[in-house]
Amino acid sequence: MKKKKIVILGAGITGLSAAYFLGRRNVSVSAFEKESQPGGLCRSIKTNGFVFDYSGHLLHFRHQWTKRFVNSLLKNNLKKHKRRSFIYFKGQFVPYPFQTNFAEINDKKIVDDCRRGLIKAASSNKKSASFYSWARNCFGRGICENFLYPYNEKLWQIPLKDLAPLAVEKFIVMPDKKDLTISGRMNQGYNSEFYYPKKGGIESLAQSLAKNITSLYLNHEVKKIDIQAKEVRFANGVKVKYDVLITTIPLPELKNIVLGLNKSVESDLSALRWLSIYLMNIGLNKKGIPKIHWIYYPQKTIPYFRVGFYHNFSSSLGPNSKGSLYAETSVLNGSKIKKRDLNRKMKSALKATKVITSLDEMSCLKDCFIDYAYPIDDKNCKKRVLRINRFLSEKDIFSCGRFGGWDYSSIEDCIVVAKEIAECVSRKV
Ligand SMILES: Cc1cc2nc3c(=O)[nH]c(=O)nc-3n(C[C@H](O)[C@H](O)[C@H](O)COP(=O)(O)OP(=O)(O)OC[C@H]3O[C@@H](n4cnc5c(N)ncnc54)[C@H](O)[C@@H]3O)c2cc1C
Repeated sequence: MKKKKIVILGAGITGLSAAYFLGRRNVSVSAFEKESQPGGLCRSIKTNGFVFDYSGHLLHFRHQWTKRFVNSLLKNNLKKHKRRSFIYFKGQFVPYPFQTNFAEINDKKIVDDCRRGLIKAASSNKKSASFYSWARNCFGRGICENFLYPYNEKLWQIPLKDLAPLAVEKFIVMPDKKDLTISGRMNQGYNSEFYYPKKGGIESLAQSLAKNITSLYLNHEVKKIDIQAKEVRFANGVKVKYDVLITTIPLPELKNIVLGLNKSVESDLSALRWLSIYLMNIGLNKKGIPKIHWIYYPQKTIPYFRVGFYHNFSSSLGPNSKGSLYAETSVLNGSKIKKRDLNRKMKSALKATKVITSLDEMSCLKDCFIDYAYPIDDKNCKKRVLRINRFLSEKDIFSCGRFGGWDYSSIEDCIVVAKEIAECVSRKV
């Protein structure tokens, strides 16, 4: 019997991991990537002696096997960190997460409001129709109005009543309803500890995966997928036939790529919403702020929602242990930004919020626009993605990954999904 041809589109962590796991099962695959480097969102930018990621890319492990897997790929080039992150709140740095550390706020009225709301919420079993009501039912008015609402409105750029109740639940620390003493519980949540490469930035993970893949073709941008002919056509003129296709290309792009979509799938694809990030990576000519990993900014008046410090992930990310940092701001669906204006506002806010003391400290700036950064799980999103996937899978196409599967997934989640897809596909060949 003729062997089936498996083609993977996109060489981010999902595509690379799928190719890796299929290879382990002796299934031969070819992977195609539009960029000149593999890694997708897990690439790093090397410039002026600095190594920048596409903002903080830290490894969190819910499974032992993924931790062992990543560690073996990176050959112990991995360091464990205990998270030290804060919320900039009325000029004070409140430890993150807010909901377990608000007792440290200097304004006692706010502390009382948060505590009262939390105690009231602990006895509530109300159903939640949106993220807005879910947060209110779990945490109460004080915590929502002081942090969860302003921060999430600023990040997500859509009304919180439009966001699905569980859209970000896995990333939010839940209160312990049996113990509401609430103070000083800094190390809680999915990212209370994390791992990061000792050297080379997050890209070292993507590079280690890529080394294991024999048929990886870079600079191959998919222009068309003909689902009748089962053929992928690339911008450089190459055409490739497939029996099974694994794609990690962002779903909205498929509207212009896939030939033969029906009207209902087209309209589902058009309705998807996502966040893009304007990212400023900055290298300093001095040592950076010690110990802090990142800071959240819920204020509307501050242009970024988060600032992080690369040098506290690894001192190897800057020349002679110089500091480096990132500041992120979000916009909807790749909307145009006034780059020069935003850049100026962000720099001046970095000074005003004392992240840097003077603009002269900045020795190098590398900004970029991440078009697809966060898929938005708005209320009808799950149903739409299900319909899209059903249509595609009937045509032997598996769409997966952060934007192929339209899932707010971490690096670890991508590895897990890729392994599942590899198992499923290897049964078909
Ligand atoms: C700002 C930010 C911070 C994050 N922080 C963390 C973190 O701290 N920890 C964590 O675990 N996760 C984090 N993540 C999530 C993590 O980056 C993703 O889950 C993961 O990298 C997604 O991998 P992927 O392969 O699914 O997608 P991608 O990395 O997007 O890969 C898709 C690939 O497809 C390629 N492609 C697209 N179109 C085409 C085309 N037409 N032809 C050919 N190739 C194409 C792209 O170039 C890309 O290489 C973060 C994400 C963002 C945006």
